[in-house]
Amino acid sequence: MARLPYRKGIDSFDFSFQPSVDKKQIKGLLTLRFLSEGVNVVLLGPPGVGKTHLAVAIGMAACQGGYSSYFTTASDLVAALVKSHSTGKFDARMRAFTRPSLLIIDEVGYLPLDKQASNLLFQLVSRRYEQGSSVILTSNRSYGEWGSMFSDAVIASAVLDRLLHRSVTINIRGDSYRLKDKRRAGVIAQVRPEALAVADTS
Ligand code: ADP
Ligand code: MG
Repeated sequence: MARLPYRKGIDSFDFSFQPSVDKKQIKGLLTLRFLSEGVNVVLLGPPGVGKTHLAVAIGMAACQGGYSSYFTTASDLVAALVKSHSTGKFDARMRAFTRPSLLIIDEVGYLPLDKQASNLLFQLVSRRYEQGSSVILTSNRSYGEWGSMFSDAVIASAVLDRLLHRSVTINIRGDSYRLKDKRRAGVIAQVRPEALAVADTS
């Protein structure tokens, strides 16, 4: 029901490959205390560093712990909200995203959000904030870049304000796991993260 894109637990995450990820911090999140405290988790970093994998692993733990969870990409979420708005099903759709104890929004920042999309996302984040339920969010954009991702800076700061009030940010710096074998084979000498940010849409 959580619509996780795949099943990968924390056991298959190689912490030694990604030293910027604090294993203790992740284990702490897997206790699920953050859910009862309404804390949000924001995973930031370039493509391929394990943001989605970690979000899925925490999502799996939440499901196993009996918490209702729902996984979506930012673009699917925004498309669903925009569509429901024009077909009169907005309230029902909004409820579907507000009700789960844990909402995972993957890949925030790959697509710019227009005014309506920004507003709808703001409403969702506000509602979850007010009811004290957690969001896990992944993004390849640093907070400083969020202003340009939203249609206007006022909405961006209003979203960030609510999102970050009770939150944990995990900044992952490092190499893409997807490219590790290619890099080892010498196919890729060095990849600039900026180049990947544009190329990677998976
Ligand atoms: P991101 O969401 O940051 O772009 P993903 O989580 O999708 O990256 O990771 C890309 C692929 O590499 C996935 O198949 C994921 O399971 C794997 N992966 C990433 N980091 C690790 C890691 N440290 N250990 C094991 N697998 C990893
Ligand atoms: Mg991802």
